Amino acid sequence: MKFCNQCGHAVSERIPEGDSRLRFVCDHCAVIHYQNPRVIAGTLPIHKGRVLLCRRAIEPRKGFWTLPAGFMENFETLEQAALRETLEEACARVRQPTLYTLFDIAQISQVHVFFRAELADLDFSAGEESLEVQLFEESEIPWADLAFPTVARTLKHYFADRQSGIFPVRNEELPAHRPLFEGNT
Ligand code: ZN
Repeated sequence: MKFCNQCGHAVSERIPEGDSRLRFVCDHCAVIHYQNPRVIAGTLPIHKGRVLLCRRAIEPRKGFWTLPAGFMENFETLEQAALRETLEEACARVRQPTLYTLFDIAQISQVHVFFRAELADLDFSAGEESLEVQLFEESEIPWADLAFPTVARTLKHYFADRQSGIFPVRNEELPAHRPLFEGNT
């Protein structure tokens, strides 16, 4: 951050009085610009044991497969964000979303959350940010071509958990990985 979004003057990085962390502080109007973690929400859409993946049409990780997911917007719930991203990226509607995996990636200040959900119908297609959208059996998952580690972890948990039919919420802390979600995808 270089300039204050309140007054347009330069900001500098310093620890405000009474604080313990470096913040961007405006040298002119003294506004403190707090920066907080970002939340990525998505779904694991399932149809008769197969899972829906999207091949990314945009960077980062263009051409790689992902579960439909993206940055949570202001004024929406986590579940709304996950369903919206599923509609935007896969033109897919899902039923009974259930919180399933939650990843803390503290080093890059991101939280990734996925809901298990049933595809409502087979009327899905590639959205603006996808090249193609496809259902995969476990044996067909393109493990080497998955876009993000949290997608791979979610799929691994799903295939393991479905053997028992019990799907506890999985909360894991992951080290920072490249590639990462960037921009506003
Ligand atoms: Zn300012």
